[in-house]
Amino acid sequence: MTLLSKPLESFKAIEVIELDQSSIVEWFKVKGLISKSKACPKCQMAMKFIEMQDSLDGFAWRCTTESKRCSLRDGTYLEKFRIDAPVTIPAFDKI
Ligand SMILES: [Zn+2]
Repeated sequence: MTLLSKPLESFKAIEVIELDQSSIVEWFKVKGLISKSKACPKCQMAMKFIEMQDSLDGFAWRCTTESKRCSLRDGTYLEKFRIDAPVTIPAFDKI
C-alpha cells in the first residue's frame, strides 16, 4: 500500500482515484461501500480478503475451508456494475 499523506478516511472521492488499487479498496471499506468482513455463503465461515489479479477489482473474498470465491461486490450496490471501481468513485462525492 502507498504511504498516505493523511488518514484514508479523510480522502475525498476525487483524491482516492489517484491512489493505488489496494488503497482504493481500503477506502471503499472505510466508507462502508464494501464490507470489512464476509461470511461464506456456503459454509458460513469468515472469508479471507485476498489479492486476485484476474478479478475486476484486483481483490476478492476466499473461503478458508474450500475454494469458494466471492466478488467484493457481492451484497453491495457495486454488484450491478461491471466496470472498474475507480470509474464509479466520482458518484460518491454526492454521498
Ligand atoms: Zn465456505
